[in-house]
Amino acid sequence: MTVRTRIAPSPTGAPHIGTAYIALFNYAFAKRHGGQFILRIEDTDQVRSTRASEVAILEALRWIGLPWDEGPDVGGPKGPYRQSERTAIYREQCDTLVRTGKAYPCFCTTARLDELRTRQEAEKTRIGYDGLCAGLTAEAAHQRIDAGEPCVIRLRTPADGECVLKDYFRDEIRIPWETIDDQILLKADGFPTYHLANVVDDHLMEITHVIRGEEWISSTPKHLLLYEAFGWTPPVFAHLPLLRNPDKSKLSKRKNPTGILFYRQAGYLPEALLNFLGLMAYSPADGNEQFDLETMARTFDLDRVSLGGPIFDIQKLQAFNGRAIRELGADALLARLKAWMLNDQVWSALVPLAQPRLNQLADFVPLTAFVFADRLPLDTAALVKGFENPEQAATLLQIAQWEIERAADWNADTVKALFSRMAEKEDLKFKNLLGLFFTALTGSAVSLPLFDAMALMGRDLCLRRVQYAQETLAADGAALSGKAAKKLMNDYEQRYRKDA
Ligand code: GLU
Repeated sequence: MTVRTRIAPSPTGAPHIGTAYIALFNYAFAKRHGGQFILRIEDTDQVRSTRASEVAILEALRWIGLPWDEGPDVGGPKGPYRQSERTAIYREQCDTLVRTGKAYPCFCTTARLDELRTRQEAEKTRIGYDGLCAGLTAEAAHQRIDAGEPCVIRLRTPADGECVLKDYFRDEIRIPWETIDDQILLKADGFPTYHLANVVDDHLMEITHVIRGEEWISSTPKHLLLYEAFGWTPPVFAHLPLLRNPDKSKLSKRKNPTGILFYRQAGYLPEALLNFLGLMAYSPADGNEQFDLETMARTFDLDRVSLGGPIFDIQKLQAFNGRAIRELGADALLARLKAWMLNDQVWSALVPLAQPRLNQLADFVPLTAFVFADRLPLDTAALVKGFENPEQAATLLQIAQWEIERAADWNADTVKALFSRMAEKEDLKFKNLLGLFFTALTGSAVSLPLFDAMALMGRDLCLRRVQYAQETLAADGAALSGKAAKKLMNDYEQRYRKDA
């Protein structure tokens, strides 16, 4: 048997550091066993998936240096590797399940499902589908389909007994079937859900080991049931522990930068980042914490994974990174600096922005230095200048953070549009709003054109700068209280998202 593993990201946002962590373990395991590592794009969520996100994911994984043997860009014998190009396959497989009675068409309308939910909530019974359409005869279902009635396809789930889930790292996990809904496999528009596409692909792509984050454990019973329904042998499941903030909470962008591309922009070396990620949930047999990818791939042992929540401690990463930088020869370091930001491409973008503000050539470096920095010196007085109270600045920073995260595209025009919309919603003069962001993002009240500079710095670094500004306010006791933040979240959803 050839070991085949995969990383299967959904292209719905900025490439996440957790994806690099899971990809690393899949890569190391496959290579340790002379196998293959596959990249599959899970873009079945048509609303949230974007091509820009997919491009960024590939770029991020390439930068960090985890080469895949098969994938949407390099192809391979089991392609296509993008789920949106495989819909005919899922439909065909789903038809088989309907024919064999393992799945059934469900005609329940949204109105009925809403009503059902309201009733279940009122009666405090289990929330979920009540199986109304599970009882339809094949003939009755066909008639309704022929009459053009829209339907989804649901998986028939046992009403009693329990699912016995074997995970490589854990004792048997038993989950009563009655707690598991008749999962929708195919939506009314003929698109598969994650569960169907994921299982069909893992089978057809001959994945032998599914190594993924533990947040997927609760989906695994549905997956096992699907394997059984198809009559396929399931792969080995190995759910890795989630990365955590130093306070043990789930790694979040509120407390740590989570975008892989932030680390590139802020000048982390990919090999240091991989070394650091390789120690999350893992300890090498020889106890040596300093290793490269090749060593990890040669020696990796799944039995040495430990489940205690691995702490993503950025200070430790910085120490690793500093060591890696200091170990480079001067020529190698110069080459890294050039590849990073000290190159003509970046300067050509900066020169036209800086030129109108130059009196001497010597002004260029101080004027543009903020583009090359990670954290800038900030003070609360400068951030809150012009606002009624510090909370107003904290509120605007928080809203900007959400808006930056959700912006579909990242360039000078989209950044401008984002701030214009914010000024309008907040009933503030554009200029007054921008003062805060000039300070937070460039460290100064006057600087290069903000939108172009933000486009150049990239979304992830901009997010981090907003976060630093929030931290600066918080250190001076001007953070939003938990209650105020919660209220703001609701308010933001109402005012910004309703019409999005
Ligand atoms: N598309 C899922 C994700 O975004 C894949 C989960 C899995 O590995 O099965 O993480």
